[in-house]
Amino acid sequence: MAVFVLDRRGRPLMPCSEKRARLMLERQRARVHRLMPFVIRLTDRLIEESTLQPVRIKIESGSKITGLALVREDGESTAVLNLFELIHRGRQISEGLSSRSNFRRRRRSANLRYRAPHYANPARTNGWLPPSLRHRIDTTKSWVRRFIRWAPVSGLASELVRYDLAAVEGDERVSDNQEHAEIAAQEIRAYLLDKWGHQCVYCDSDRQHVQIDPIDLRTAGEPARDISGLILACTSCIARRAGRDISEFVTDRARLERLRNWTKAPQRDRAAVDGARSAIAQFLATTGLPVELASGGRTKWNRTRFALPKSQALDAVCVGAVTAVVCWRIPVIKIKCTGRGRYQRTLVNAHGFPRAHLMRNKRIHNVQTGDRVRATVPTGKKAGIHTGRVAVRSRGYFDVHKPDGPVTGIHHRYCVVLQRADGYSYSM
Ligand SMILES: [Zn+2]
Repeated sequence: MAVFVLDRRGRPLMPCSEKRARLMLERQRARVHRLMPFVIRLTDRLIEESTLQPVRIKIESGSKITGLALVREDGESTAVLNLFELIHRGRQISEGLSSRSNFRRRRRSANLRYRAPHYANPARTNGWLPPSLRHRIDTTKSWVRRFIRWAPVSGLASELVRYDLAAVEGDERVSDNQEHAEIAAQEIRAYLLDKWGHQCVYCDSDRQHVQIDPIDLRTAGEPARDISGLILACTSCIARRAGRDISEFVTDRARLERLRNWTKAPQRDRAAVDGARSAIAQFLATTGLPVELASGGRTKWNRTRFALPKSQALDAVCVGAVTAVVCWRIPVIKIKCTGRGRYQRTLVNAHGFPRAHLMRNKRIHNVQTGDRVRATVPTGKKAGIHTGRVAVRSRGYFDVHKPDGPVTGIHHRYCVVLQRADGYSYSM
């Protein structure tokens, strides 16, 4: 894992190893700039006196987790510097919004003070995105901006499409023939999974491993000659079909008709573009850095080629054109989106009735929920040093959430703030 390094004036230098960072801190050549992720600032060096190598940020955007990787590329190999997993809030947002609207609905119909009806938001028409999707895009943007501040980023890479059928037909980006065939196979598989909804076309099962059944429905039995004739089936159905003709194997007339219509349909979409990914791609273009936009098929091909385990962060490393991946066995920093608390001060029960009230001030003795603190408790049952995310209580006795569980009821005078809450919690 690499440590981010800034120069005397806060401009980014090449990330260094943890050991080197520790040495420089011991020799007073550096100061701690930030704890999570760890950033140091050199006191005796300027960017002009340093040599920089190309560092790239790679992004693999997912619905629940976005993988981010910082890599150093020198033409022959891709050295992984840092791996991050940005864990989005997901359904929390939509559930919170719909429960709030339900409570308000009740208060409109109940015999209470007047609450004005709420009409559809007119802002929805122009560039509106669902709040949970906007959150995903905004947090990804915010982390890309941070990495650009902390490292000498010279390029970006992101997945734009799930599959790219242009790559199947061959283009100039892929020179080697064998390589081209392998990428094309991944793109075709990604396309078929998307088209047939990750299910077997014969029995609708999505539990088993589905594979391509190379049969052409139009010629009833002969191998398919192009992608529109390919269908996905589970292993047991392919074994049961045992080379029989499709009209013989599928006894359900309606299903057979549906299959035939589907395969006859012309290829309209050459690429499946995801809304969030295209929004992220638009943002990446605004940074002014060179951006590589790749397809999901290529990511998967890279992952199998370098035999990397499946994880969102390592998938990010595999986005786009990749040379031999080295130094990838490093801990992944998990960044969980927690938000900065809520502005509603009334907590409600399941029926929307007030249950309790939150404090008017979020800060108690200059500590706020979400801050990273170190509590040094001298005596008693909780004696020791506890470091972690704090949850404040109005009485002044706080809870410190450590990786191995929370320690409750620590007096505020033992707590020292290490890093202010920034809307994320961090773990390894
Ligand atoms: Zn099946």
